[in-house]
Amino acid sequence: HTDAPLASQAPDGFVHVRGANENNLHNVEVRIPRDSIVAFTGVSGSGKSSLAFGTIFAEAQRRFLESVAPYARRLIAQGHTPNVEYISGLPPAVALQQRRGTASSRSTVGTLTTLSNSVRMLYSRAGTYPEGAPRLDSDSFSPNTAVGACPDCHGLGVAHTVTEESLVPNPGLSIREGAIAAWPGAWQGKNLRDITTHLGYDVDVPFEQLPRAERDWLLFTEEQPVVAVTPERDRIEKPYKGRFWSAKRYVLHTVAESKSETMRAKAMAFMHSGPCPTCRGTGFRPAALAVSVAGLDIAAFNSTTLAALALVLRQVAAAGSAAAPEQGLEVAASIVADLLSRIEVLIGLGLGYLSLDRATPTLSPGEMQRLRIATQLRSGLFGVIYVLDEPSAGLHPADAQPLLEVLAALKDAGNSVFVVEHNMDVVASADWIVDVGPKAGAGGGRVLYSGPVAGLEQVEESVTRRFLTSQIGRGEHRVPRRAGQWLELEGISLHNLVDLDASFPLGVLSAVTGVSGSGKSSLVSQVLPHALAPLLRGAPRGAAAAGAAENGQEPAAPTEQARVAQVRGIEGIDRIVAMDQKPIGRTPRSNLATYTGLFDAVRKAFAETELAKKRGYGAGRFSFNVAGGRCENCLGEGHLEIELLFLPGSYGLCPVCHGSRYNPETLEVTYQGKNIAEVLDLSVDAAAEFLAGIPAAARSLNTLREVGLGYLSLGQPAPELSGGEAQRIKLATELQRARRGHTLYLLDEPTTGLHPADVQLLLGQLGRLVDAANTVIVVEHHMDVVAAADWVIDLGPSGGDAGGRIVATGTPQEIAAHPESKTAPFLAARLG
Ligand code: ADP
Ligand code: ADP
Ligand code: ZN
Ligand code: ZN
Repeated sequence: HTDAPLASQAPDGFVHVRGANENNLHNVEVRIPRDSIVAFTGVSGSGKSSLAFGTIFAEAQRRFLESVAPYARRLIAQGHTPNVEYISGLPPAVALQQRRGTASSRSTVGTLTTLSNSVRMLYSRAGTYPEGAPRLDSDSFSPNTAVGACPDCHGLGVAHTVTEESLVPNPGLSIREGAIAAWPGAWQGKNLRDITTHLGYDVDVPFEQLPRAERDWLLFTEEQPVVAVTPERDRIEKPYKGRFWSAKRYVLHTVAESKSETMRAKAMAFMHSGPCPTCRGTGFRPAALAVSVAGLDIAAFNSTTLAALALVLRQVAAAGSAAAPEQGLEVAASIVADLLSRIEVLIGLGLGYLSLDRATPTLSPGEMQRLRIATQLRSGLFGVIYVLDEPSAGLHPADAQPLLEVLAALKDAGNSVFVVEHNMDVVASADWIVDVGPKAGAGGGRVLYSGPVAGLEQVEESVTRRFLTSQIGRGEHRVPRRAGQWLELEGISLHNLVDLDASFPLGVLSAVTGVSGSGKSSLVSQVLPHALAPLLRGAPRGAAAAGAAENGQEPAAPTEQARVAQVRGIEGIDRIVAMDQKPIGRTPRSNLATYTGLFDAVRKAFAETELAKKRGYGAGRFSFNVAGGRCENCLGEGHLEIELLFLPGSYGLCPVCHGSRYNPETLEVTYQGKNIAEVLDLSVDAAAEFLAGIPAAARSLNTLREVGLGYLSLGQPAPELSGGEAQRIKLATELQRARRGHTLYLLDEPTTGLHPADVQLLLGQLGRLVDAANTVIVVEHHMDVVAAADWVIDLGPSGGDAGGRIVATGTPQEIAAHPESKTAPFLAARLG
């Protein structure tokens, strides 16, 4: 394959792709304008990502890697070489995909956006210092640096402390009766008691009757007097020298020094963990906390919402320009102006409810991506292609406009913005559309249209056309189903939900709507499963809190405890299944075949082949998770993790099995001409045909197709699946079971990643669940789903503290007519 003519030297302003055959692409040839906003559309699995990410981005990345030092290149050799004949006019590319922050990460909104650097600089240069205090450098304002961390808790903010209550649980006892429970027992304890008597303390009165000073000394002193003790209990024993240990000193010493795990655990029981008193749980060193900006110390600044910070910074800017010019003030003014402009972008993207100290693992993938997009605006890069994956995911239609403005700003800075998108409002506002299809998998993979948006109307084959230009489903009025019973919750508190009452109709489909940060996920994905699951104990089949729990995953506990004062109507539910967007597994060892259980049936079929029987291979031989059949070099992962400072978490192909995960002997066994690795490479669509003879597998595969996942490959590692795909796999797993009824299904934005045509399919599946006497509650922004719901609960009015209330409830018609609901105009437009 040729690289000439050289990238970005093509004069015509187009990226020209020829002979693209990545995945399902059929010899695609397409010309796409640079310096434009380009939308890639098509049903799920049609090949949009294969073109935008798998071909264009991958080729740009490959060329970049070729330009770096051979040493570094060898390390990142997994950069994939796309199957394409020729691309010209290709500038460097940056991909911003939908990813959740890794659970272990210590990063925050502030560190991810690099706003924290500016905030530290602001406090260092422009903070108000106490009289006579020296100026601190900006590192002193980070709990993650040696100079900045609180000396007592090392920046963690948590302290383990002892109190009189924790050391003396029963103050009515005397010391002889064991009042100081934290002291050791047996001989050592008696020893300490003897020393105490020797020191002149009364060990026979109730502890609480000892004077305060004596109690404090016995419990907390650092002093360790050594006294000659005559043992009380045994007159023939010789006097000896004994050292005193206060209860605190003994506990701390044991926790820090004891070699015995049991001793340490016992001592820990007398401590309690709480916010570190030195830094009030913030992790900052006290000298840093003494510095303020607009009356806020840095910890308070970081925990303030971005919306409120913008107000504070505007005041600071106004006050600064009024003050007499002093040394450093100009610097301060420019830091403030810079912070303000960046925070305003985030607020514009509907993220004003976040604070800088919010940990990234608690953010949704959509929130993460929008933070990254905003951060890119500052990077000063120009002449690059940004390839984005559904930037509208998680956005209320009311917030779509600011997103479009940010994309336009990236373009105006001299970049190309390529978005794989399903939201027709975003698509309609693009400069150019590349429609891929017409169907998924082998039925797609062609570019049906590449041109200005309006021209798509002429393309009869296009599925997208109907949704972009016509009024599908508009004006069609269904009669909403009516609830038999209601589930009523009173006094709900979590995050921004404060003493909220909410009622949900049972046996129908409800949509929970509202702008980003209004509290939808807190209510549906956290409060409902965590507050209701305990009430279901003893119900048939154990009523687990989440479908995931039944699949061997723990439902993630909310960071804060959800509280609900009262619940009524729980009798109407036997079981709760929360189908969230969390990964179906955290390691490349799980995939949809293992999760749905269909892989068991496949392995059994392999074990029954003649060659397997002859060699004595059981089903276990065909697992890549246990020794026997798997490649021992990568332990069946197919990839090896590479440690790279600048690209954490990179994986390289295993050089022994070349990614197949199995050893050569195992791969010699074939079922209808394919070995086990080749079967894992099949898409669900292809496998449904290939495995039609294995009923257990075929059943799973068909339900996967019904939720629009026919394009996924069986072996695609769980961490590579999008949140929306993970959720639909959970839905399919649930649908393949016998219908039970009386189950409460909770879904968070199930339409993420779905083309409007696939949304119709999904609605059909949700309807099946409801028709089987179940209840479905979905968090949704997609007006097709809201319009199809029987009941709508609209939260708001805005995000964060300005949200968390129920603005309106009713049928879609009623919500559409509600004067205060931000959802109303969009729903009204959809209902027509
Ligand atoms: P879209 O972005 O339109 O949803 P994709 O480009 O992801 O579609 O997928 C197009 C087709 O290519 C699908 O049939 C899918 O199964 C297949 N495909 C995607 N990724 C891979 C892969 N890594 N290996 C094999 N096939 C893939
Ligand atoms: P929505 O689903 O409507 O976007 P969320 O329920 O995610 O809203 O958020 C509601 C509010 O609760 C927001 O102010 C958000 O910042 C806050 N919040 C959500 N999750 C957490 C969390 N894990 N820790 C702290 N605050 C959170
Ligand atoms: Zn501390
Ligand atoms: Zn291997």
